[in-house]
Amino acid sequence: MASRGQELLERLRTEVLVLDGAMGTLLFEAGLRGGDCPELWNETHPDAIREVHRAYLEAGSDIVETNTFGGTRLKLAAYGLGDRVRDLNRLAVEIARSVCPPGRYVAGSIGPTGHLPDTVEPLGDVPLEEFRANFTEQAVALAEAGADLLAIETMMVPEEAQIAIRAAREATNLPIMCTMFFKYGREKGIDRTLWGSSPAEVARFLTDAGADIVGCNCGEGGPDRAAVIIREMRDATTRPLAAYPNAGLPRLVDDRTVYDLPPDEMAAGYPAILDAGARIVGACCGSTPAHIRAIAAVVSVWRPR
Ligand SMILES: [Zn+2]
Repeated sequence: MASRGQELLERLRTEVLVLDGAMGTLLFEAGLRGGDCPELWNETHPDAIREVHRAYLEAGSDIVETNTFGGTRLKLAAYGLGDRVRDLNRLAVEIARSVCPPGRYVAGSIGPTGHLPDTVEPLGDVPLEEFRANFTEQAVALAEAGADLLAIETMMVPEEAQIAIRAAREATNLPIMCTMFFKYGREKGIDRTLWGSSPAEVARFLTDAGADIVGCNCGEGGPDRAAVIIREMRDATTRPLAAYPNAGLPRLVDDRTVYDLPPDEMAAGYPAILDAGARIVGACCGSTPAHIRAIAAVVSVWRPR
């Protein structure tokens, strides 16, 4: 019998699947404070995490992401939780799994470590082997707990994405989605990673590294730029493409970060993302179940041209 991950890849040939929206944004609303470890909430506030998943599934998400964005050893160590990688990642998968019905999927989220391997001059600060082992450890923990695919996301540095993909590929047999963060340069009107790679370069690079699904997430530009990025990626890879941009740009209002795109305005940008070729669409920072509901409504009526 095909795994759920293989089933998902198969469905992408003919369907568009809807991912979820922000986790952090909703956890802050539920009482998470700056300086708290979000992944520890898998143990201390499982009901809050479950409610986030439930709300996104109800809004129309086909795929929900585990609360494990900072679940590598290097990230957790900053909270003195470096030895909790396995159980905090396992709890996160179990929570998502517990509300995920058949035909929908749990993606194990893997974010950047906040460090770089020492092979990347001059910023690298962690031995390459240790750096790689971080991703192996988290990927294995997510896979063993029953994730359907891995979502390596918000990657800033191509080398980090590549190492994460390869580590996950070697240690698990789950499909791998990898998406990178793009900055929009207003002066030149182009999108680049923080290290200067173009969308086409990123699509080729992630494909060569072994990702099954490639794309962009988070980022500065919102849905309008995501459509441009996906169009450029389309010509550079045969892999299915994913886009889950932020709900516009962050602004600080009364010490709170708010995002400027309400659900309907955000969803209005999605026909262009779908026309450009994205087969997984969702949303990132600042988005809520209301955003996903509006995006799912767009997906439900969209037809390929
Ligand atoms: Zn984001």
